[in-house]
Amino acid sequence: MSGTPVSLIVDDSFLLHDFPGHPESAQRLRAITDRVLADPVLRSLPSAPAADVDLDLLHAVHTDGHLRSVERAAQSGGGWIDADTYCTPRSYDVAIRAAGAAVAAVDTVCGGGSRTAFGLVRPPGHHATRAQAMGFCLFNNAAVAARAAQRLHGLERVAIVDIDVHHGNGTQDVFYDDPSVLYCSLHQWPLYPGTGRAAETGEGRGAGATVNVPVSPYTDGDQWLAAFDEVVVAAVHTHRPELVVVSAGYDAHQADPLAQLCLTEDTYRAVATRLEAVAGEHAAGRSVWLLEGGYDLGALAGSVGASLHVLAGR
Ligand SMILES: [Zn+2]
Repeated sequence: MSGTPVSLIVDDSFLLHDFPGHPESAQRLRAITDRVLADPVLRSLPSAPAADVDLDLLHAVHTDGHLRSVERAAQSGGGWIDADTYCTPRSYDVAIRAAGAAVAAVDTVCGGGSRTAFGLVRPPGHHATRAQAMGFCLFNNAAVAARAAQRLHGLERVAIVDIDVHHGNGTQDVFYDDPSVLYCSLHQWPLYPGTGRAAETGEGRGAGATVNVPVSPYTDGDQWLAAFDEVVVAAVHTHRPELVVVSAGYDAHQADPLAQLCLTEDTYRAVATRLEAVAGEHAAGRSVWLLEGGYDLGALAGSVGASLHVLAGR
């Protein structure tokens, strides 16, 4: 299986965290799955299951108080953690499994199972800080992936590239003083959650290892890619990561209802090509993609499909 270009990490439990009518509903994952199954190339990709994340590893990202607060919210019947973020009685277990999917993706690429692994995970993670759930996110899957690469596979340098239209304040928070994990985000500004100014570049020993590229509403795909090349790709080259983790949000698509950028499926093809190239140069081709946002179902499914076609080498 070592010649396999890309594996999918899937788990039916990701449908169990659901609130019909909410933008971040299980329908998102069903739309992606339908697209994969309808495509002869994509449905032939190998898939690997997820397991629950080891709690010691989750504690390397989140405070114990945060873990317990999500568990308590679920056990007490669920409800709203904040105005945007719902929790159901199943959500703690699902979020534990989603973080475990991030680990499974890292295990797959670091164990030589495939060059790339794409975790079709929910709930998303990049807004979850060390100590707080927010912005539809309970646990920070991308941050768990980076720590898994370091603690379980002995890698030193990891880059997290966040292409979601929103700034990943949670991921930035986890690694803000850590020089070993480069965090790069290209996001619409102004927009939720209000962080991600270019001047936010890390602190202490992590100074310079956070790179934020805010772009204006109505930025199109060519403009977005120019900024991506000039700042994000350059920063990743400088960091020389042994693994590239992609916070794969698709809400910068022009059809997305939650933001105003104007990317297309072609943009997502181009960004996948660039990330493949930079991972090939520094990380023996290893990249882990984890689903974040994307709220127009057709645009989401089409853009994930476009990314997977590039990663599959088609
Ligand atoms: Zn987003």
